[in-house]
Amino acid sequence: MEQKQQNKKRRNLYKVYPIEENCISCRYCEVACTMVHSESKDPIKAYKLEDLLPRPTVEVEGPVSISVMCRHCKHPFCLDACISGAIWQDKNGAVHLDEDVCVGCWSCVLVCPFGAVHPHLNKRHSLKCDLCEGRDFPACVEACPNRALVYDRER
Ligand code: SF4
Ligand code: SF4
Repeated sequence: MEQKQQNKKRRNLYKVYPIEENCISCRYCEVACTMVHSESKDPIKAYKLEDLLPRPTVEVEGPVSISVMCRHCKHPFCLDACISGAIWQDKNGAVHLDEDVCVGCWSCVLVCPFGAVHPHLNKRHSLKCDLCEGRDFPACVEACPNRALVYDRER
């Protein structure tokens, strides 16, 4: 019964899905993510002055590339592993990471089966996709010139 209710809630969860065949490793998704999460909203300042990192990371292997990002798992290993309570799941099932609470132990980085959490070594906190909280549409999806990222209800 409890599982049924949980599944119903998750039907409201929209996530970003990568389409590997369409990815051309342009990294526009990385830049858009970094800019949107910056104070300046300027890509140069975001990278060079604010020392920000993108949450999706484009992995390239020969002719194949894919933008890797958080899958907002039903049972998030990162949440179980977090020692500080920095990771939490909202009522729809999206998984969030509070960078101010994170103590930089990197447990979440080690356990994520998708390689979707990254350590920001300089700032000593982890970071992952937050589905662009506060925006109607994730910036990476908007920025992708090739429809290699789609924002869709959980499948
Ligand atoms: S960070 Fe990894 S383990 Fe945590 S919810 Fe996202 S994909 Fe799942
Ligand atoms: S690095 Fe931060 S978010 Fe990750 S497990 Fe440790 S305290 Fe939690």
